[in-house]
Amino acid sequence: MRLSKSFIPTLKEVPAEAVIPSHILMIRSGLVRQLSAGIYTWLPLGYKVIRKIMDIIREEMNAIGGQEFHYPALNPKEIWEQTGRVEAFGDILFHIKNREYVLAPTHEEIVAYHAKGAVVSYKDMPQIWYQIQTKFRNEPRPRSGVIRGRQFIMKDAYTLDRSFEDLDKAYDLHDKAYRKIFDRCGLKYFVVGASSGAMGGSKSEEFMVKSDAGEDTVAYCEKCGYAANVEVAQSVSTNAKRHNESKPPYEISTPNVKSIDELCEFLKIDEHETAKSRVYVHDGVPVLVLMLGNDEVNESKLGSVLGGNVRSCHPDELKEISGADAGSIGPIGFKYRIIADNLLKDANNLYSGANKNDYHIGGIDLQRDVPGTEYFDLRTVESGEKCTRCNSTLEVFKAIELGHIFKLGTKYSEALGVMYLDEHGKEHPIVMGSYGIGVERIFACYLEQNYDDKGIIWKKPLSPFDIQLIGLNMKNATVTEASEKIYNDLQKQGYEVLFDDRTDVSAGFKFNDADLLGMPVQVIAGEKNLKDGKVEVKLRATNEKQIVELSNLNVKLKELI
Ligand code: ATP
Ligand code: MG
Repeated sequence: MRLSKSFIPTLKEVPAEAVIPSHILMIRSGLVRQLSAGIYTWLPLGYKVIRKIMDIIREEMNAIGGQEFHYPALNPKEIWEQTGRVEAFGDILFHIKNREYVLAPTHEEIVAYHAKGAVVSYKDMPQIWYQIQTKFRNEPRPRSGVIRGRQFIMKDAYTLDRSFEDLDKAYDLHDKAYRKIFDRCGLKYFVVGASSGAMGGSKSEEFMVKSDAGEDTVAYCEKCGYAANVEVAQSVSTNAKRHNESKPPYEISTPNVKSIDELCEFLKIDEHETAKSRVYVHDGVPVLVLMLGNDEVNESKLGSVLGGNVRSCHPDELKEISGADAGSIGPIGFKYRIIADNLLKDANNLYSGANKNDYHIGGIDLQRDVPGTEYFDLRTVESGEKCTRCNSTLEVFKAIELGHIFKLGTKYSEALGVMYLDEHGKEHPIVMGSYGIGVERIFACYLEQNYDDKGIIWKKPLSPFDIQLIGLNMKNATVTEASEKIYNDLQKQGYEVLFDDRTDVSAGFKFNDADLLGMPVQVIAGEKNLKDGKVEVKLRATNEKQIVELSNLNVKLKELI
C-alpha cells in the first residue's frame, strides 16, 4: 500500500482525551477515531489489524469444531424478557425507542432460541456455535479507548451438550483454544478463577492482562501461579485473637465515635480488637455482616454466600432495623441473621457498636454472646497477604479482562424450554457454556505491552504490514525508480509492504512516522546507498541498522521476518 494514497492520519500531539498508552498510540498512529463516547471508527490501518485478530480467532475456533454463525444485533425484546435479563442488564441494555427491540449485549438467548426444537436429541450434540460480531452495551463510564466501548466486537461462542461431563470437555476445548489465540497474538496473560455470579458452583475463568488501565483487580502469587479475581480470591490472614479470659460485655459511652479508626483512637485499642458492622437486606430481610477491624465486605463474596437478592441497607432504614444509625451498630441485641467473616471466628474481648447511638460494647465474646453467628470468607484480599496454596506473598494489581469462559449450565435452556431427549426417551434441558473474547481488547493489550517512546512495536502476526519501505527523496529519479522496483519485488515475494512514497514530507518526518506506525522492518532507500546498489534495513524493535546489498535483500529479509 502506498502511503501517498492512504488515509493514515498520524498525529504528533497526544490527544487530551487519551491517557493510557494503547489509546494514545491508536489515535496518534491513525488506527482509530472516536465518534462519540465509547463509540469508535476503525480506520483502514487499524481495521487491518482487527481482521488479523479475527482470522486467528476463527482458525482456532474452527480447529475445535466451532461453526461460525452470524446472529442479528437487533433482537426482539420479548426473548430477553423470558430470561429476566431485560431487568438484569438494566441500563446497560440499549432499547430501540417505540419498538419492542433491544440491541444485543451478548447472545445466550438467541442461541437458545435457535437450539429450541432443532437440537432435539442427544445425537444432535455436542455443538459449538460461535460468531464474531458487534455488541452493544450502554457502559456507564466508557473510557480507556476501545477497551470499554459502548459498541465493540466480540467473539462469542456457545456450547450445547447433553450433560455436565460433556460441558467439562467443551469448556476444556475453549480453555486450550483461548490460550492458543492469546499466545499467537503475542500477549503475556494469565488465567484467573472468577466469580460465577448467580450460577453458583459453575466454573468460570477469566484471561487477564496486567495493566494499570484495567478495571478488574486480581490477586496473584508469583511463586505458585495462584491467580484469582479479588471478587473470589482467598488468602491466609491473621485471625482476631481469642484471649484466655473472656471479659463480660460492658457498655461504653463513645460520643461522636463512628468509624473503626475513631473507635481505636478513642479507646486506645488495636483495629484487631474491633468488629465492624454492615447491614444488608437479603430478599427483603435484614442481615448483619460483621468484619474484623477495617476489613471491607466483599459484596461479590457476600452475594455468593447469600444467593438471591442482596442490597446494602439504606441509611434511613437502619434505625428501625437495629435501633441505631451507622457507626453504632453491632451484634449484641441485633434481632436478625448475623454472619461474620472467618477472621472473627472464636474471637473474644471485641469492641463493636451497641445498637444505641453514641455507645459501643466491649468484652464481646462471639461464641458466648452471639452463638448463632455464621462464619464465611467475606473479605477482600490485600497485597502482601499470604497465598493459601503456597504461603508465599500475594500481589494485588489491576488487570484487563481479555476473555471469559463460563459453564452456564441449564439456566437459559430451562428459562426458554430448550429440551432434548436422551437414549431412553427422557427429556432434559440442554447444558450450555458461553465463551467470550473482546477483539478490541486483544488489540489494545498488545499495544499496552509493545511500545516505546517513539511508537508501536509490531510483531508478526498482528503487524498490519511486514515492511515499511521508505523512499527518502521521492523527487529524485534514482530513488523513485529504485524504490518502485523494490516495492514491486517485495510484494512479489509475498511481503505486505507499506511504501512511504510521499513527495511532500521530509526524511525526518518519514522516519518518525515509520517508528510511530511500528512495522517490524524498515527498508530505507536513499540516494547515497542506492548509488552503491545498497539500502539500509532497520529493525524497529531493537533499532538495529545494517546496510544491505540490493541483490542480497531478499535473503536478509527472510532471515529477519
Ligand atoms: P467487563 O467486566 O470488563 O465489563 P464483562 O464481564 O462484562 O467484562 P463478558 O460479558 O464476559 O465481559 O464479555 C466477554 C468479553 O467481551 C470480555 O472478556 C471482554 O474482553 C469483552 N468486553 C466486554 N465488555 C466490553 C466493552 N464494553 N468494550 C470492549 N470489550 C468488552
Ligand atoms: Mg461488562
